[in-house]
Order: sequence, then structure tokens, then C-alpha cells
Amino acid sequence: MILFKRSEDLTVYLEKQRPAGRQVGFIPTMGALHPGHISLIDISKRASLLSVCSIFVNPAQFNDPKDFQKYPITIENDIYLLEKAGTDVLFLPEAGDLYPGGIADLERYDLGYLETILEGFYRPGHFQGVCQVMRRLLDRVQPQHLFMGQKDYQQCMVVGRLLALIGSDAILHTVPTLREADGLAMSSRNMRLSGEERAKSTGIYQALTYLKENCRPGELAGLIDRACDLLLKHDFRIDYVEIADTGTLEKVSIWDGKQKLVSLIAAFQQEVRLIDNMILTE
Ligand code: AMP
Repeated sequence: MILFKRSEDLTVYLEKQRPAGRQVGFIPTMGALHPGHISLIDISKRASLLSVCSIFVNPAQFNDPKDFQKYPITIENDIYLLEKAGTDVLFLPEAGDLYPGGIADLERYDLGYLETILEGFYRPGHFQGVCQVMRRLLDRVQPQHLFMGQKDYQQCMVVGRLLALIGSDAILHTVPTLREADGLAMSSRNMRLSGEERAKSTGIYQALTYLKENCRPGELAGLIDRACDLLLKHDFRIDYVEIADTGTLEKVSIWDGKQKLVSLIAAFQQEVRLIDNMILTE
């Protein structure tokens, strides 16, 4: 694995690889890597792509400064895991490289409705930050394939919209969520949970599974109330529990039995905010 810290060096290296005709697969991350991240790398590797992973904790996407300060950093272990996975390139930029003028007054993207709901509503500015960093990373890596996790369902939709807005023809692959044995979605934030909090965190998976197993045509409000009760029993503080259309993320209150549905949850286990989702209809 070759590690680049400076954009210019990365760009020169990738330009040299392109004549050989090998396509680039890009896996952007914020580090504190776990098997979920590595599953994205594995898919890129299996497709024989020149696999480029970035690690950058993007200050522009944290609406809560405390969350940014507490974001786990485990760079040595990350490098070890990436090496082991056969990653070709690690891009590890400094903030000044991606944002030479700082992060105030950055460009804005028209994300429409997507920015006003769910994560967009509860984390104002978050998706602008995601787009601002993705734009910069995409400009540098110029991938043909982009791998992102379904765990961040709305983020995948936002990035899909960004690709269209900037006229990128990179293909976005949405990779299924990797879970712990008890169903908890793997996440860098899980390492901030105490033993007791970690045990209670399975409540999110239980609530999603409950929604999937009990979703019937008709009114969905009662079903959502029962999923909320399950979360409250596990001491969660709920931001949202929602059932939405898989394609638009518009809220569905009455199900016709045909529309494709996804359920999305965001909730705090003490100080740690967790998100997860599950497709309810096959
Ligand atoms: P992050 O470092 O949290 O920004 O995540 C980097 C990428 O890994 C994003 O595309 C995430 O959606 C994806 N990811 C995070 N957790 C998982 C997981 N448990 N399974 C699959 N992909 C994941």
C-alpha cells in the first residue's frame, strides 16, 4: 500500500496509473476502521480495481463540535487493516490540503428535499459538509467506482445527487451494512459505548427487525409507536423512527402493500448518537 498525504502527489501517482487502463475504486472514510469499512475495500478489490481509501475526519460535516472532538482516531490500526485488506492507496490529507481557505464560506449544493428531512433536519449543515469534502476528494481521486455503505442510507442518496450535480460519471455502489453478531450495525462510534450502553444498543436492530416483521398494509403510526417503545425500553433518546419510500425517502404513513419501504432510526445511547436502517420490503 502506498500512502499519500499531499493531493499533488496522489494526483501525479494516479495519472501515471491511468494509461495502464486500470479503473479506480474509491472508498472514502473517516478512519477508526472496522470490518464494515473493510467490506467496501474487499468489494473494490474483488472487482480488480485500483483501490484507493481515504481517511479524513471532515470538520465541515460535524454540526456538533463535541462530536468532532470526540471522533475516535486509530490511525496505526487503520493502516494495519488496510494493508491486510490489500488496499492499493491510502490518501491521508491534512485539513489545509482539502480546505486551503478554511471551512467558513464554502460552496453550497442544492440538495432540495433530502437536506430537510431525517439526518438533514437533525444535523443542519451536515450534508453540505459531506458534499464539500466529497467534491474535493472526487476531484483528486477521479474514480470510476465509488463504494459507500447502506448504513448511511441518506448519505448515499445525497452523494448520488452530488454526482449528478457535478456531472461525475463515477458509479456509486451501495454496500450492505455489516453487523455485529447481535445485530448492532458496525460503526466507529460504537467504541465510545460503555459495556452497559453497548448491550442496550442492540435495541435499534430489534426495533428495525420488529418493523420489518410486523409491517402490514394500512396505517403505520401504531407500528412506529411500538418500535419507539422498544427503543425507550433500551434507554434510547430518540431523534427519529421513520418509514419512508426507498427511492425518495418521503415519509410513508399509510402503506398500500406495494410501495418499497425502508425504515430509518437515529437515537442516542447516552452521549453516543447511532443511526441504522433496514429495507422492510424485498
Ligand atoms: P465513515 O468512516 O463512518 O464515514 O464510513 C465510511 C464508509 O463506510 C461510509 O460509506 C459508510 O456508510 C461505510 N460504513 C460504515 N459502517 C458500515 C457498516 N457497518 N457496513 C458497511 N459499510 C459501513
